[in-house]
Amino acid sequence: MSLSQLQALESAHVIPSYARNPVELVRGEGARLWDDEGREYLDFLSGISVLNVGHCHPAVVAAVREQAGTLTHTTNLFYTEPAMRLAQRLATSSLGGKVFFCNSGTEANEAALKLVRKAKPRGEIVVLHGGFHGRTYGSLSATTQESKQAPFAPLVPGFVPIQPTAGEVEAAVGEGTAAVLVEPIQGETGVHVLSDEFLLAARAACDRVGAALVFDEVQTGMGRTGTMWGYEQTPVVPDALTSAKALGGGLPIGALVTGPRLADVFAPGDHGSTFAGGPLAAAAANAAFDVLEDPELLARVRELGERLRERLEALPGTANVRGRGLMVGFDVADAPTVARRALLEQRLVVNATGPGTIRLLPPLVVSDEQLDDGVGRIAAVI
Ligand SMILES: *Cc1c(COP(=O)(O)O)cnc(C)c1O
Repeated sequence: MSLSQLQALESAHVIPSYARNPVELVRGEGARLWDDEGREYLDFLSGISVLNVGHCHPAVVAAVREQAGTLTHTTNLFYTEPAMRLAQRLATSSLGGKVFFCNSGTEANEAALKLVRKAKPRGEIVVLHGGFHGRTYGSLSATTQESKQAPFAPLVPGFVPIQPTAGEVEAAVGEGTAAVLVEPIQGETGVHVLSDEFLLAARAACDRVGAALVFDEVQTGMGRTGTMWGYEQTPVVPDALTSAKALGGGLPIGALVTGPRLADVFAPGDHGSTFAGGPLAAAAANAAFDVLEDPELLARVRELGERLRERLEALPGTANVRGRGLMVGFDVADAPTVARRALLEQRLVVNATGPGTIRLLPPLVVSDEQLDDGVGRIAAVI
């Protein structure tokens, strides 16, 4: 089918909740994508930080092929090895508690919200203006953005939005607080790294009242910032974190990971999901984990990130280059046009998070040459 035929099918039959680019992608490999006419693209978005291992990583492809021909689904009424192994790896690589599986980022945050409420009944959740946690009602209620929330009111009660300052978090957290939920680097709203001062104050405030500090690591996790988890480059350790996006190496899976204190808050029947932790997605995730936990790869992500930020800073027309590892944002005039021209004229996939910001999330397996090539293509459109 041609692109125009796909567009006709979309306008006739697909609920118009997405603004798609006029490109049909048919194949991917590493940091490269191809469209239906055989044109090659350089991918600096990775399906919004899903393909951290790159497109069609051979280890993930092999694991999926093997598992797809063996057993794809059982429900959680039974044991399967891929999920139990993945839970062990997730918990031991991070907070040392236990794992609840689900299928997406928003679901991981729903699980976290239910968990912290059960741990502190009727407790409030302190969240940040400009945060993003997903589209289902609990996560949306934690996403303090007027445009995303207003059409869907009334939202879930009990969320307290603040600015990410030490003073505001100290004032907002009290005996009635169940949790403070934040992204260590705000991704969807433009790659804003939370300050150490704020995070230390949030940690201290939570400790003072027995509230949980929860990090939404759906975007910052799985090596994106040059450590397996984003919190490792902050001065604090959260009580729980959420993961999804890159966790499945391209397949849908999410997880809530707790520290020891919150590990046994849920009891059988408290929460669940039919597909969660299924053997196919978990096998893909274990293969992705093998690739991403490599200390050499993580060190390279930190180096490449510095190189990328230096090169972007040197370009005329860029400002406020920021981020950690290969999670990078910069300001530029008319970012949506820059992103569109990058895609259609330079065959470079990037994303505008708003009118003035471009976000770059290349696969972590990107080569030096591809990184420089991408910066060259950006330079050509600004
Ligand atoms: C993408 C994202 C989500 C939502 O994940 P979905 O899989 O789209 O539900 C939540 N939190 C953060 C920080 C994200 O980047």
